[in-house]
Amino acid sequence: MKAAIYPGSFDPVTYGHLDIIKRSAEIFDELIVGVLNNKAKTPLFSVEERVKILKEATKDLPNVKVESFTGLLIDYAREKDIHVSVRGLRAVTDFEYELQIAQTNRQLSGGSLDTMFLTTSLEYAYLSSSSVKEIASFNGDISQCVPDFVARLIYEKYGINRQ
Ligand code: ADP
Repeated sequence: MKAAIYPGSFDPVTYGHLDIIKRSAEIFDELIVGVLNNKAKTPLFSVEERVKILKEATKDLPNVKVESFTGLLIDYAREKDIHVSVRGLRAVTDFEYELQIAQTNRQLSGGSLDTMFLTTSLEYAYLSSSSVKEIASFNGDISQCVPDFVARLIYEKYGINRQ
């Protein structure tokens, strides 16, 4: 069975992430979405909330599992006996950062963890969790960026009541 991990912060999940999840779930027998519990960052949603949101958003994809993890991706992957990490690429700016992480992971894991990149679908190329949060915080429309139930939760965090 071929399994992969799609690691990320997902704070919160966007249609861009969901597109990568759906497409990788068609390539692999099992896809684990690994929500990083990064103590150094202050997220809008707690790791428990992010896992819950992702579970709801992927409930129709039977081969997708959502979990949280702490620490290094290579340790989490080794524990699960998984050898592929999936990442999404939006633009050249993602590439430099992603290349460095991919090479570090390959090196640190002694060649056991490879990274597979999927390029973003063009309609989501502009999307990022941070821009979604910024737009929402000013009561902007994020209906094209995230599922409706996620949008409601984001506005709630900013104390915005949209009719
Ligand atoms: P990070 O793990 O760097 O905090 P995110 O959780 O936002 O980043 O994203 C996880 C992964 O999803 C990264 O590989 C990122 O490049 C990718 N990604 C984010 N937004 C999109 C998008 N709109 N289209 C495709 N891939 C995306």
